[in-house]
Amino acid sequence: MSEAKPLPKFAVLQLSGCAGCEVSLINATEWVDNYQLVYMPLVVSTTAVPDDTEILLVSGGVRNDEDIYNLRKAAAKVDRVIAVGTCAISGGVSNLGDRDDVRNIFLAQSTRHHLPHLLPKSHPIDAFVDVDLYLPGCPPTPELFMAALTDPEGYEAGSIVCVECGRKKLKDMRPTHLVGFQQGEVLPDICLINQGYLCVGSSTRGGCRAICTKPGHPCVGCRGPSNAYIEKESSVWFDRVQQVFERMTDIPPEEIKEALHSPQLSLFLFQFTDYSEGGRPPRPKEKVL
Ligand code: SF4
Ligand code: SF4
Ligand code: SF4
Repeated sequence: MSEAKPLPKFAVLQLSGCAGCEVSLINATEWVDNYQLVYMPLVVSTTAVPDDTEILLVSGGVRNDEDIYNLRKAAAKVDRVIAVGTCAISGGVSNLGDRDDVRNIFLAQSTRHHLPHLLPKSHPIDAFVDVDLYLPGCPPTPELFMAALTDPEGYEAGSIVCVECGRKKLKDMRPTHLVGFQQGEVLPDICLINQGYLCVGSSTRGGCRAICTKPGHPCVGCRGPSNAYIEKESSVWFDRVQQVFERMTDIPPEEIKEALHSPQLSLFLFQFTDYSEGGRPPRPKEKVL
């Protein structure tokens, strides 16, 4: 009897993030029959990425010197690197640490504990290693994780969240003011913009199956810009969202602009802050799932 072919091995490296990506991956149970998870400190008690590992999934951004060391060491051992989640690709929670108040909290602690050395600013992982595939989302859904591991080219998704949402955009329902985040009653089947919610699904790449907007929660753009904007400055994306609201609503343009740039909303739209890497080339669309 011939021996069963060994399963391809993959590892998960967590840098500065929140572990939400790992939880989502664990929910994608289908990979259990097709892949062998050999390294993931959250759940697997190995101390290093084994030499014969094929795929490395990296979550979290590069925020300190330990992140750089671990990332370079792990990436050198594998055939393919997949950047998973907003933090690893374009900002996210770890990028919020660039704010002075957050940085000061960390620096105050660093003298009392043996913490890694904080870098002057945070970075995407492709500032240090070559990335073969980008998997944006905060976190990417289990379905997207499966697609990244098994068949990224064959994954069928709408170009933007609106395509997957199914809510109808109405011409004659024009709100005059924005409704506060998570306030008011949400009508089923009707576009959230018609109801005055700041939904940015019209410029956000599809693939998540609109898991937020279908039940009535505005899209905050965690999948990042759609292909139309992925190679452009984030200001182009902001202008586009503004145009959509001006076309579909009677909300004063200043109110929309203020909301889009408010500190409160920027916490939700942090996905679009992107790392201000001088001279970093745009990520090729074909490498983004
Ligand atoms: S992308 Fe989101 S879920 Fe993943 S590590 Fe960052 S904050 Fe957490
Ligand atoms: S704007 Fe939001 S609610 Fe409206 S169709 Fe697009 S994703 Fe759905
Ligand atoms: S609907 Fe928007 S915020 Fe929600 S998962 Fe999809 S891209 Fe992210």
